[in-house]
Amino acid sequence: MDLPAHPWPPFLPGWVWLCGAGPGDPGLLTLHALHALRQADVVVHDALVEPAILDWAPRALRVFAGKRGGKPSPRQRDISLRLVELAREGRRVLRLKGGDPFVFGRGGEEAQALAQHGVPVRVVPGVSAGIGGLGAAGIPVTHRDVNQSVTFVTGHDQTGEAPSALDWGAIARASEVIVIYMGLKHAAQIAGALLAAGRSPDEPAAVVTDATTPRQRVIETTLAGLPAAAASVEPPAILCLGRTVLLRRAVLGLDADPLRPGRPEGA
Ligand code: SAH
Repeated sequence: MDLPAHPWPPFLPGWVWLCGAGPGDPGLLTLHALHALRQADVVVHDALVEPAILDWAPRALRVFAGKRGGKPSPRQRDISLRLVELAREGRRVLRLKGGDPFVFGRGGEEAQALAQHGVPVRVVPGVSAGIGGLGAAGIPVTHRDVNQSVTFVTGHDQTGEAPSALDWGAIARASEVIVIYMGLKHAAQIAGALLAAGRSPDEPAAVVTDATTPRQRVIETTLAGLPAAAASVEPPAILCLGRTVLLRRAVLGLDADPLRPGRPEGA
C-alpha cells in the first residue's frame, strides 16, 4: 500500500522518531508511524506493541526494550542511552511505544534524555488505550449527557505501589468518569479509596483487556465489583468508572439509550 500523496517528512539518519503504535490493532497506527516503519534502520519497541506492526518494518533491526507494568524499571536509563548510541551511529531509529508515547509511557523521559545528548527527535502521537481502547469497546470517555471532564490516572507509581501522591478524594469528586491505566494490581485498593471518598458501590464500571486486538474482552461491572473483575483478567487492561460505561450497549447498537429511554433519535 502506497502512502497517499503528502509532503511526508524525511526520516533522516541520526534521528529518533518517538512514535505511538496505538493500543494494538495495526490499523490504528498513524500514517507517520507507518511511514517511519518503512524507513527505519532499527525499531526499538515495547512489549505492548503488536508483532504484526513490527512486520511492517521488514528491513529494520528489532530491539526489544520491554518492561512489564508494575515492576521497578532500573533500565529506563539504559534504554535512553541505547537510543542515543543508535542515533549516533547514524541510524534512523524508530522508538515505538504502545498507545501514545507521552501517556504513562515514559516517552517524555526518553525525549528529554535524547535532547540532553543533542539527538534530534520527532514525536509522533498515537491512539491511547484509555481513549481509543475504550472507544473500540463501545465506551465513550465523554458524553454530553454524562460528563464534562474525564480523569486519567495510573494505578501504580514508579515503585510499583499504588500511587501515594494521588488524592483519590479529590479525583472522586472532580470527575464522574475516571480512566485507570495499569490498574489491575491495585484495583481493590483503588476501588476502596474511591468508595471511601463517597463514590457509590453501584456505579457502573468496566474492565477492557487487550483492547482493539482479536483478544479484546470487556467486563461490565460496578465499582463494588471492580476488584473481582480485575482479579479475573490478565494485563493489559484499562479500567473505567462512570456512567458512560452504560452507553456501551447503546453505542454498539445492542440496547436503547439507557440514559434517556424512549428519546427519539436526534432529540
Ligand atoms: N502509552 C500507553 C500506556 C502505557 S502504560 C497508551 O497511551 O495507551 C500501559 C498500560 O496501558 C497497560 O497497563 C494498560 O492499562 C494500558 N493498555 C495499553 N494497551 C492496552 C490495550 N490494548 N488494552 C487495554 N489496556 C491497554
